Amino acid sequence: MSRSVLVTGGNRGIGLAVARVLAEQGDKVAVTHRTGDPPEGLFGVRCDVTDRESVRRAVAEARVQHGPIQVLVSNAGITHDRLLVGMADENFRSVIETNLMGAVNVAREVAPDMIKARWGRMVFMSSTSGLTGAPGQTNYAASKAALIGFARSLAREVGRRKITVNVVTPGLIETDMSRDVTPVRRENLLGQTALHRVGTPEEVAHAVRFLVSEESSYVTGAILPVGGGLGLGN
Ligand code: NDP
Repeated sequence: MSRSVLVTGGNRGIGLAVARVLAEQGDKVAVTHRTGDPPEGLFGVRCDVTDRESVRRAVAEARVQHGPIQVLVSNAGITHDRLLVGMADENFRSVIETNLMGAVNVAREVAPDMIKARWGRMVFMSSTSGLTGAPGQTNYAASKAALIGFARSLAREVGRRKITVNVVTPGLIETDMSRDVTPVRRENLLGQTALHRVGTPEEVAHAVRFLVSEESSYVTGAILPVGGGLGLGN
């Protein structure tokens, strides 16, 4: 297996784990990074997903290096948690711009490669919060819920070309992002998690590996929860 893969936000956290798992099985993986150096052993393309021109350049670089994009893992995301009444417009907008519009920008750029090849895999990183809602996360939950509608619509647009589009909803995963969660909120989330522990980025990566594999050929428009049972039933 040696497909041309693009992972956004692949320089740390969940994205990096996905990139490493796919590279280990022989895929040609390009990861986006906004600043600094790419992670060791991986091909990096500099990219801010909120900037269409930056996305266009990054995808073009990945194409030159590895060929037309066959697999997209749209993972880049941010939080700006605050109760709605105290939330600045800018904090709402930047989360929507990154989590939703960033994914739209990247998908629009790589979709023509997959349509032309009549094969492709796209996975969008949503969140349990997008299904259940969460206090302090009106902006984040809205962006992550919107990703689901986006992915399912796109799945219907490109399905005839053997392109699948799926969504992963992680629960509480140990990364820089989840280190911002207050101890009280963390305890509360763990109390609602059937497995009573935080997940690892690798556990999310293994679910992504299935969704981008040939074995998942009849799975599209699906939401795969990787949350240890957080948000069960949603
Ligand atoms: P991290 O904060 O560890 O990493 C976020 C990644 O997104 C970084 O690589 C970051 O790049 C990148 N990124 C953010 N904004 C942009 C941008 N404008 N352009 C390009 N890249 C950007 O988060 P996680 O690994 O925890 O999260 C990955 C995804 O999983 C996110 O979409 C998140 O919402 C989702 N998720 C995470 C959960 C968790 O508990 N950790 C739970 C549910 C969902 P840079 O290094 O340059 O900042």
